[in-house]
Amino acid sequence: MPAASDGAISGASEPETPEAETSEPYAAEPARRHTAEVRVEWEALRRRAVELMERAYAPYSHFRVGVAGLVDDGRVVAGCNVENAAYGVTLCAECGMVSELHATGGGRLTAVYCVGGDGQALMPCGRCRQLLWENGGPDCLLMTPEGVLPMSAVLPQAFGPDNLRHAEG
Ligand SMILES: [Zn+2]
Repeated sequence: MPAASDGAISGASEPETPEAETSEPYAAEPARRHTAEVRVEWEALRRRAVELMERAYAPYSHFRVGVAGLVDDGRVVAGCNVENAAYGVTLCAECGMVSELHATGGGRLTAVYCVGGDGQALMPCGRCRQLLWENGGPDCLLMTPEGVLPMSAVLPQAFGPDNLRHAEG
């Protein structure tokens, strides 16, 4: 299958473009595209997030979460929450997504859609906003219950990599 031909960035109105299996871990790294060239297909991202939400491991809270993110080269990465009998060890869906991001070639997140069990937009927890900031920065777009917002609005005055650079003098 062609890499990076995901529905989230493909042309406009092809019905039912299969959007799974976008990232082949050992495939050659596709050429990076500038963020502005990648058109965000929010509904495709939402569908992918819902697919992952349905795979969540949430036997304790029954609060299932899925998330999908568009990478600046057109890949789509995704994750689901994974609970643990030791509650504090629970992994948010964004943890899995960020792991897939790096495991499949890295890059920057440009758009993220997180959903709850109802398939609707769900705000990432505070910790996960930090994850999105690290891997997408202030311009990464997030679908929220109030519409699309940049991370700079979702995590204002964020602590991030720049702070550490400044500390080095
Ligand atoms: Zn979280």
